[in-house]
Amino acid sequence: MKRIMVVFLSIMMIVSLAAASFADGAALSCSATNDQLNRGDMVTVKVSLSGAPDVKSMQLTFDIPTDVFTVDGGWNISGTIADFNKSKNLAVIAFESPTNINGSIFTLDLTVKDDAAYGDFDAVITPTVKVSSEAGETEVPCAGTSVTLTIIDPSCRHNNKTSVAAKDSTCIAQGWDAYAVCGSCGQLFDADGKEISEIHYRAINPDNHTGNTEIRNQKDATCTENGNSGDTYCKDCGALISAGSKIKALGHDFGAWITTTAPTETTEGEQTRTCSRNWQHVETRTVPKADHVHDLNHIAANKATCDQPGNTEYWVCSTCNRYFSDAHGSNGINANDVIIAPAEHQWGEWVVTKEAKAGEKGEETRTCIYDSNHKETREIPALPETENTDAQTEEPSTETPELPEITVPENEIIENPETANDSETVIWLPIVIVALLGAAAVAFLVIKRKKA
Ligand SMILES: [Zn+2]
Ligand SMILES: [Zn+2]
Ligand SMILES: [Zn+2]
Ligand SMILES: [Zn+2]
Ligand SMILES: [Zn+2]
Repeated sequence: MKRIMVVFLSIMMIVSLAAASFADGAALSCSATNDQLNRGDMVTVKVSLSGAPDVKSMQLTFDIPTDVFTVDGGWNISGTIADFNKSKNLAVIAFESPTNINGSIFTLDLTVKDDAAYGDFDAVITPTVKVSSEAGETEVPCAGTSVTLTIIDPSCRHNNKTSVAAKDSTCIAQGWDAYAVCGSCGQLFDADGKEISEIHYRAINPDNHTGNTEIRNQKDATCTENGNSGDTYCKDCGALISAGSKIKALGHDFGAWITTTAPTETTEGEQTRTCSRNWQHVETRTVPKADHVHDLNHIAANKATCDQPGNTEYWVCSTCNRYFSDAHGSNGINANDVIIAPAEHQWGEWVVTKEAKAGEKGEETRTCIYDSNHKETREIPALPETENTDAQTEEPSTETPELPEITVPENEIIENPETANDSETVIWLPIVIVALLGAAAVAFLVIKRKKA
């Protein structure tokens, strides 16, 4: 009992699934072998069904204007049992077992009546589709379809023309030459009004891109690298329309220098600046050592004395020992320049401090006018001793009457003949002359004998 229930439920599920998918996917459609018809023409309307599983039977009702068309017959295609009731315009198609249908199922042959009105007429086909199930046949929804058939008026005066402007071909779609179509008979005309059998379509134009573009390979310029505006591609056909152009590197946009390490008198400092476009772009530079700030000591002017050098007013830096002539340390000078050499003594007149006397030296003194401690003293020669001299009256001793001793040693006489005594020269001269004459006579005789 239980087993039977399970089987039954399973079948129910399959049926409901089949019905659901039919409703979702099944579609009836029809087409005509020719939809531009003249009176007397035959036309076949083909009916197709797609996506229909487990079809057990179908019923097709045709609504066809009987004053325009004569129904010649209806024919099934899939070789199943069919019944076509011309008077009711009803076709019944039954399958021996549930069948999946996906294609043509039925054709209907029509003939345009000789007295048919001109114009457009619809042939409407309304289906009723049933699927099989355990419980019997179930009708499922399926929309109807129709086809419009035009009966052409051969004597049309083409008073109902509509012009269609030419359209350029694009890279993906064909355009066409200008044409006109008659709304009454469907006749086509070219731009000159000449009848044409079909619209003249133009070839695809691979160079006509109509605006759907996209930019690829676009790249922003950085401080140091060039960018690119990007290549323009047609979104429709994918062709490259224009290559991008180079965007020059922007260069850094550095801000102000910021001191990161202040310089001192002995060490260099450092400054950095950062690019506004990229904080990682940093430039660093060295700041020279700070200027020396003099620590100036004022030295007042000091006059030179006769024995001590003086100095001009000056300032000296206790750190660098440089000398300056001004309190701001701007006029550097040499250390030697401030020295004022000791002055020469400026002597006054000689003043006799002790009179010279006969036989006794005197003394006189002069004093420096700059410094009275500076004195110079010199002797005054003793005066010659004289009897008349008043000064000698007191001092004369036993020496005074004596004449100065003048002694001439013996040898001095020989050395200095001019000072010799005249009387002695007179005595000796004749003796010398006689001796010399005698010697000459002897020599004369000796020489004469030798010659003989
Ligand atoms: Zn016409
Ligand atoms: Zn394109
Ligand atoms: Zn930068
Ligand atoms: Zn200094
Ligand atoms: Zn002096």
